[in-house]
Amino acid sequence: MDYSRIKRTLFVSVFMNFVFISLQKKQEVLLDMVASGAELGWLTSPVEHGWEIGQRAVNGSLLYNYYICNVEEREQDNWLRTTFIQRNPTASRVFVELQFVVRDCNSFNVDSLTCKETFNLYASEADADIGTAFRKGQFRKVATIAPDEISSLGEMKMNIETKVVDNLSHKGFYLAFQDIGACVAIYSVRVYYKTCPATVKSLAKFPETVAGGENQALREVTGSCVSNAVSEDQPRIYCTTDGEWVVPMSQCQCIPGFEAMNDACQECQPGFFKPSVSSETCKPCPENTQPSGSGAISCTCKDGFYRAPEDPETADCSGLPSAPQDLVATTAQTSIGRLQLSWKPSADTGGRSDIRYTVVCERCEGRACQPCGEKVRFDPSNTDLKETRVTVSDLEPYLNYTFTVEARSGVSQFSNKRATNSIITALPYTSPIKVTAMYVVDRSSTSLSLQWSVSHLSKPVATRYELMFRKKENDEEITGKVTTYTVLVLEKNSVQISDLSPSTVYLFKVQALSPEGNPGSYSLEKEFSTLPEASQKTGNTAVILGAVIGGGVMLFIVVVVLLLRKRRRNSHTRRGPEDTYFSSPDQLKPLKTYVDPHTYEDPNTAVLKFASEIHPSHITKQKVIGAGEFGEVYRGILKVSSRKETAVAIKTLKPGYTEKQRQDFLSEASIMGQFSHQNIIRLEGVVTKFKHAMIITEYMENGALDKYLKDHDGEMSSFQLVGMLRGIAAGMKYLSDMSYVHRDLAARNILVNSNLECKVSDFGLSRVLEDDPEGTYTTSGGKIPIRWTAPEAIAYRKFTSASDVWSFGIVMWEVMAFGERPYWDMSNHEVMKAINEAFRLPAPMDCPSAVYQLMLQCWLQDRSKRPRFGDIVSIIDKLLKSPDSLKAIADFDPRVSIRLPSTSGSDGSPFRSVAEWLESIKMSQYSENFSKAGIIGMEQVLQMKSEDIHNIGVHLPGHLKRIAYSILGLKDQTSTLSVFAV
Ligand code: AMP
Repeated sequence: MDYSRIKRTLFVSVFMNFVFISLQKKQEVLLDMVASGAELGWLTSPVEHGWEIGQRAVNGSLLYNYYICNVEEREQDNWLRTTFIQRNPTASRVFVELQFVVRDCNSFNVDSLTCKETFNLYASEADADIGTAFRKGQFRKVATIAPDEISSLGEMKMNIETKVVDNLSHKGFYLAFQDIGACVAIYSVRVYYKTCPATVKSLAKFPETVAGGENQALREVTGSCVSNAVSEDQPRIYCTTDGEWVVPMSQCQCIPGFEAMNDACQECQPGFFKPSVSSETCKPCPENTQPSGSGAISCTCKDGFYRAPEDPETADCSGLPSAPQDLVATTAQTSIGRLQLSWKPSADTGGRSDIRYTVVCERCEGRACQPCGEKVRFDPSNTDLKETRVTVSDLEPYLNYTFTVEARSGVSQFSNKRATNSIITALPYTSPIKVTAMYVVDRSSTSLSLQWSVSHLSKPVATRYELMFRKKENDEEITGKVTTYTVLVLEKNSVQISDLSPSTVYLFKVQALSPEGNPGSYSLEKEFSTLPEASQKTGNTAVILGAVIGGGVMLFIVVVVLLLRKRRRNSHTRRGPEDTYFSSPDQLKPLKTYVDPHTYEDPNTAVLKFASEIHPSHITKQKVIGAGEFGEVYRGILKVSSRKETAVAIKTLKPGYTEKQRQDFLSEASIMGQFSHQNIIRLEGVVTKFKHAMIITEYMENGALDKYLKDHDGEMSSFQLVGMLRGIAAGMKYLSDMSYVHRDLAARNILVNSNLECKVSDFGLSRVLEDDPEGTYTTSGGKIPIRWTAPEAIAYRKFTSASDVWSFGIVMWEVMAFGERPYWDMSNHEVMKAINEAFRLPAPMDCPSAVYQLMLQCWLQDRSKRPRFGDIVSIIDKLLKSPDSLKAIADFDPRVSIRLPSTSGSDGSPFRSVAEWLESIKMSQYSENFSKAGIIGMEQVLQMKSEDIHNIGVHLPGHLKRIAYSILGLKDQTSTLSVFAV
C-alpha cells in the first residue's frame, strides 16, 4: 500500500472543522503557525522521508500543516523543530496549544508494533538563535501528545491539546515534535504566555502583569488608587498562573466631592454633594440649600435657612420657627397669685424638632414695666420649655403683667428676628387683697382691740376678713407643740376680742376675702399680749419676737437646704446615658458609634435620619432573587435623575403588614444606613413615603456566601478562601469598632459580589429572633441560631463583639469546608452538649493549619481570651502576605474534635457491612464502587486513605470529604457516643 499517497490525500484534502480558540483571557502570542502561513521555515530531521509540509485552501486562505505517516517502518525518529522563539523576560511559563489529527492504526493494514498513535513534544532553551545547528540531545521532553479522538479512514477528528513549558529562564527556546511512527498532521501550533490584563478593581488600578509559573503561582501586584481616590494601605491583588486576578484588596475610597462610578471617581453632579472620604455615593443637596456646583463637598444653606452647630453637614437647612400661637392666660378660682399660660406650638417649625419656648415676665405699673425678677416662680421653668404651658405663681394680685413667649430652635442664634407672642394680663380685681398692717387700738387684761389696713393700691372692695388667733404657749419653741387657732370671719377691718387670759401673748393673722370669697394671703403673724390682772400694760414682746425671728431663720435654713438637695437630685436624674458615655473612658472609642434606632421615640425619624428617601419611580424591579422574612427580594435597577443606572437589590414588605412589622422591616435600613465600609452591604436608600415600603441596597451578583461555596465546592484555593475571610473580618472589625453587635453572623448572611468580595449583611432589630430559619427558641424565650452562637450568648444572652468572634470562627469553618453545615446533622442539643464538654469542630478537609488554629482561638470558652476582630484581620493579612504559611494542612485531632455523626450503627454497635456504613452517612450511591474495588469489609475501609477513595471513583469533593471524615471518626472511635474525649 502506498501510504505516502494516503497521507497526502488524508491530511491535505479533507476539510476539517478547524477550531479557532477564542481568546477569553489575555494571551501574548509568541508563535502562531497558522498566522505565519508558508513562512514557517521549521527544520525537519531527517530532511528526506521525515515531516513534510502540506497546504490547503480553506475559505480563500491557505492553511499549512506538517504531516508524517511512516506507519509501516520500524524505529522511526523524525523531528520537526520550530524557529527560535524569543521569550518575554518575565514569562517563565508558556503554553503550547496544538491542533492535530492522528490516524487510527487499525485503518492501515500494518504491523501493530510499528504503527503509533502518539508523538512527543520537546523543548530546548537557548540565549541566541543557533540557526540550523540542531542537536536532539539538547532537548528535554515536555509531554507525549496523545489524541482524544483518533480518525479512521475518511473522517478527520481534530484534537486540541495544550501543554505547559515551565521554568524557562533563557532568552528564548525551541520546540520540537518527535514522531516515532504515527500518522499525524499538525495544523496549528500556538505558543503564548498569559497575562493578567491591566485592570481597575474597587477603585484601585493594577498594571498588566505576566502570570507566574510553578515557582510563583500567585504574583502579588501592588496598585494605586485611581485619580481622586485615597487609601491608607497600598492596594494589592494577585495574578494567578491562569492570568486571572484574584483577591483584590483595596480600600480606595473617593475623596470628598467625588463618588465611585465606572471604576473611577467622578465629581458629584451639580445639586449633589459628598462630605467625606467614603465609599458612599453623592447625595442630593439637603432641603433648603443653594444648588451646589459639581464636586461639592457640602451644600450651603439658602438665605434665611441655617444649620445648628450640632447638625451634620448632611442635614437639611432649617428656617426659624414662627411665633407661638393663641397665647392665653387663665386663672383658677382657688389659686392665689397664680395663673396658667398656654399656647399652641409654632405653626411653622422651620423643619426642626428642637423647638423650645422661653417665657419672659414683666410687671407694669401704669406704663412703667420692669422684669418680674426672681420672686415670680414658673413651673416647670420659664426657659427651655418643650411643653406649651407653664404655671406662673407668686404674682401680685394688683399688678399688670406682660408675658412674652418666644419660640426658639437650634438655629435661632443665627438671626436677630424673634418669634414671640405676648399677652398683658392682671390677676382679676376680685383676687384677694393684701393686709398690710395690723395694730392694737386698745387692750385690757382680758381683751384686745385690733385694727388692720389693706394695700393702698388695691381697690376697697373687700367685704370680709378672716382673723385667726391663738394663745402662744411658753414651751412652744422647745416642744414644737402647736395649739389650735380660733377663726373669726369679720365684716370690717377691726375687732375686739374678749375673754382672753391676762398677761398672755396671743398670735394673730388676718386675710382679706374678696366678694367672691377668694382668700388673699395671710398677713404676717403678729403677737399682742393682754395686760396683767389689775396691773399696768407690760409685755415681753421683744423676747417673743426674737424667738419667732430665730425660729423663722431656722426654718429658712431648713428650707434652703432641702431645696438645694432636691436640685442636686434632679440634676442627677437628668443625666442621660449620653452624659455617662461622654464622661467615661469610652471616650476613646471612635467618634462614630452605632445608634440603636430604638432610642428614637418614633422609629420613622430614625429611618429618615440614616437613609435617603427614594421615589419609587426611580426603581425598576426585574426578578425575584430571594425571600426575606418581610417579603420578596428583587434584583432591579435604580436610576436617580441624571445619574447612571445601578443594579440594586430591592427588599419589599409584603402587603397586609402591621405598623410594628413595617417599623421592624425599616429598622434594618436605619442600622445599615449608619455604616459605610467596603465589606458591609451598602444602603442606597428607602421608600417609606409610599404604600409599599422598600429597602434598596447594592446588588451582590453572587448572592449568599453559603450557597456560593456549595456551588463551587473544591474549585477555590485556600488562598482565595482566606482572602474572602479577610473581607468578612474587616467588615466585622468595622462593626465592632462602631460598637455594633451583629448576633447572627453566618455564611448565609454574607453576600458575595462579582469580584468575590464578601460583605456582611442582614441587620435588623428583631431579625435574629424572627427571620433566620436557623433561629431556635431557647428556654429564656429568645430565638438563637445555636450552632453559630457563643456559649455565653446561648446561656445568658451575653451578646458582645466577642460572641460575634465565635460566630466568625464558625463562618471560617463554613468557608474552608465549602458551605458544609456546621456540626453536620447533629441536633442542637448534641451541639450544645459537645461544646460544653470542650469539643470543637474538626479542621475541614485540606484546611491550612494556621487557619484552623485561628478558628480554635475564636472558640475559646473564655470570651476575654478570644482574639478581637482587629487581631483577626492582622493575622489573616499575614497569612495572605506569605502564602507558604497556608501550606501546612491541619490534622484531624481526636482529642478536641467532634466526629462526624453516624460513626457506628444505629444501635451503637460497629457497622456490620460497608453498605450499612455507607447508608448511615447517606453515601449509598458508592456501594458499587467499593465492592468493585474489592473493599467488602469494614477493616478494609479503615485502611483507606483519601487517594484510595478518589481512586475508586469518588470524585465530588463534598462526598470525598464526607467519606474520609467518617473513616477518620471510625478509626478513633472509642465509645458509641458521637462525641468523645481523651
Ligand atoms: P435577606 O432577607 O437579607 O436574608 O435576603 C434574602 C435573600 O435575598 C438572600 O439570601 C440573598 O440570596 C438575596 N439577597 C438579599 N440581598 C441581596 C443583595 N444585596 N444582592 C443580591 N442578593 C441579595
